[in-house]
Amino acid sequence: MEQFNTIPLTTLTGTFCACMGVEPPKYATTKIDELVEYITSRCQNGKVDRVIIYNPDAIGDYIYRKYYDKFASVRKHLKREQPMLSMIPPKTPVCFASIYSGATPEQHGITKYVKPVLTIDTIFDALIRAGKKPCIVSVAGQSMDKIFRGRDMDYYSTSDDRSAVDKAIELVKEDKYDFICVYNQEHDSVMHITHPQSRSALKALDHYCDNFDRLATAVKENWKTHDTLVGFATDHGTHREWYGLGQHGKNIPKDMNITHLYDIFPKQQ
Ligand SMILES: [Zn+2]
Repeated sequence: MEQFNTIPLTTLTGTFCACMGVEPPKYATTKIDELVEYITSRCQNGKVDRVIIYNPDAIGDYIYRKYYDKFASVRKHLKREQPMLSMIPPKTPVCFASIYSGATPEQHGITKYVKPVLTIDTIFDALIRAGKKPCIVSVAGQSMDKIFRGRDMDYYSTSDDRSAVDKAIELVKEDKYDFICVYNQEHDSVMHITHPQSRSALKALDHYCDNFDRLATAVKENWKTHDTLVGFATDHGTHREWYGLGQHGKNIPKDMNITHLYDIFPKQQ
């Protein structure tokens, strides 16, 4: 009998805020203490001044484990594996709303596949209050592109995953944002029209890993004067339905269990 992971996505906003020394938004009342300790104990002054989170859509833990070697280019940069539990229902906008607000679906109001602009307090609001500059880079029209709109911050919408990462690398080089989220979608899109272990879905995992590797390398080269928290953080898992196609949205371990990777890229001088 497969077990459920125990640490929910609602702990991440509190964790990121604690690592940055920023007052968290209203609903972010919990954090992952061991992860905060791991990150902040490796900073020069006890907190990070930069955060960059790569959000690849829909990598189930069973996929991560089964195709573990594919993710070597991610683990090359990020040593710390963090098992996480997705939100119910494990649908993209439900999950990202919780990841970046600390609120449960009942609190943030997204309880199915809809993409309204969130009006509750989010990490982006908390960062702006603290004088930090956040931005979101996402494929146009996706949840991450839509639900956090309306804040005094920058949004970059791109035509596909690769150009989202290209844009993010450009922004890293410009060195003007404190908190960057980069969203990629390919594995989720492809597995819905095939299944999670189809050739094209596995190819999409390779693309995620290549994209992350390029992004992380750019951060290492260009943010040497910053202590940076770097994350590889998916939203939910997937399963294959009886009719053959990939799907997600059920409270089952395959959809709910995910693994995130985090690490700090320390300041070099
Ligand atoms: Zn998703």
